[in-house]
Amino acid sequence: MKTAILGAGVSGLALARALVEGGFDPADLHLFEATDAVGGLCRSKTVDGFTYDVAGGHILYSKDAQTAAWMKAAGGGEDAFVESVRNTKIRFGDRFVKYPFENGLGDLPAEANFDCVKGYVEAWRERLASGSAAPADFGAWVRWRFGDGIAAHFMDPYNEKVWKRSLDHLTSDWVAGRVPEAPIDDVLRGAVGISTEGYTHQSRFAYPRRGGFGAITDGLAGPLADRVRLSTPVTRLAREGEDWAVDGERFDCVVVTLSLTDLPGLIEGVPVDVGRAMSELEYNSLASLLVALDRPEHTDLSWVYLPHPEQGPANRITYLSNYSPDNAPDGRSSFLCEVTGRGGEALPGAELTGDVLAGLERAGLLEQGEVLFTDRSDVRQAYVVFDHAYAERRRVSLAWLEENDLFPLGRFARFDYDNSDQCVIKARALAPVLLERTRAGGRS
Ligand SMILES: Cc1cc2nc3c(=O)[nH]c(=O)nc-3n(C[C@H](O)[C@H](O)[C@H](O)COP(=O)(O)OP(=O)(O)OC[C@H]3O[C@@H](n4cnc5c(N)ncnc54)[C@H](O)[C@@H]3O)c2cc1C
Repeated sequence: MKTAILGAGVSGLALARALVEGGFDPADLHLFEATDAVGGLCRSKTVDGFTYDVAGGHILYSKDAQTAAWMKAAGGGEDAFVESVRNTKIRFGDRFVKYPFENGLGDLPAEANFDCVKGYVEAWRERLASGSAAPADFGAWVRWRFGDGIAAHFMDPYNEKVWKRSLDHLTSDWVAGRVPEAPIDDVLRGAVGISTEGYTHQSRFAYPRRGGFGAITDGLAGPLADRVRLSTPVTRLAREGEDWAVDGERFDCVVVTLSLTDLPGLIEGVPVDVGRAMSELEYNSLASLLVALDRPEHTDLSWVYLPHPEQGPANRITYLSNYSPDNAPDGRSSFLCEVTGRGGEALPGAELTGDVLAGLERAGLLEQGEVLFTDRSDVRQAYVVFDHAYAERRRVSLAWLEENDLFPLGRFARFDYDNSDQCVIKARALAPVLLERTRAGGRS
């Protein structure tokens, strides 16, 4: 069954590998990749001995141990990875606050600690007394769950920085299942200085020793190298009888890992309402700024959140040279700063670098004299935005693709907040479906 996989990010590559592992003839596989390298959002880049991930700091973590093991095997096996214990903080004025914030209130200045504890207790009491359901607006949800103090000191400014929208434009759907509720006793213990764990999600993670996170996608692509057509952007998908033609070449099966928002411009015959649903899905872009430092690493931090405007435009910095010593030359270190942009709008220009560095200096995380150089990578689509129209637009879009015998797979092809492990899980679940279709003679 001649199969086209559009896009050679982790989703497309994992599907191709899983198909071949399941007995699919590699000669029937054709991956189309617009850029000159595989990996998509998982790609990494090395500049003068400093390696960084082009779409923000990535870690390998999965609740599914088998998936993590499969990804490690692709990336060179267990020994090719560094295991770390997550050490994440929030920068607050001149101090670090333990993450998650609600477990670290004792690290705050006394007044802010009081505001947060008071608000947390009031919100807890209110939920208990009223039995109220979680509000659908994200902004209201933050207050319902954490109270006014945590909202004002952390959640509101941090989320406004990341999402570039009023928080009531967003729904609370995306946090469901992602933010476990801290027991009130733990919050109170933390507030008076007794250490509590908080949630242990991603408390240990892995990262490739060499080559950045992209070593995983490079490894996935290795055996498929001759099946990937690099620098081959797909520009047109059209029906030919029961099949689809990709830029005029006919295929029995087409898997799409490209963004839903781009499909109306590529696929012939998308109905107007479906095209509108696809193209109006909201997203955010990202600028990733590597800061190469002329100093050895002097912390054991994994990453730090920067919620406040005076800390500059970056919302997070990742201490990449702590992930793997190979990410920086001997005696030097690096971190990676992430700045989001509102989808469809241009990211800031060259002034961004100065603004980020000045913010980090004000936050006490950097001294200008230490900076060797910076390097920037932008990605057009980094975050799915969960606005109130999201669920319906996504439903309409996916239903049409599936009705029309196209297989959407991946973070932006399904418009899901999926990490790479979830992309792999979904790719490996799709492989048996396609293998069955092959056995059935090309069509299910
Ligand atoms: C800031 C940030 C932090 C993250 N952190 C983590 C993390 O710590 N751990 C983790 O596991 N995941 C993390 N992720 C998520 C992870 O990056 C994604 O889930 C994953 O990379 C998505 O892979 P994909 O293959 O579905 O999509 P993509 O990587 O977007 O791949 C799509 C591919 O299609 C190609 N393409 C686009 N248009 C065309 C065209 N017309 N023709 C041909 N090819 C085309 C693109 O070039 C790209 O290679 C993070 C993401 C972001 C943005």
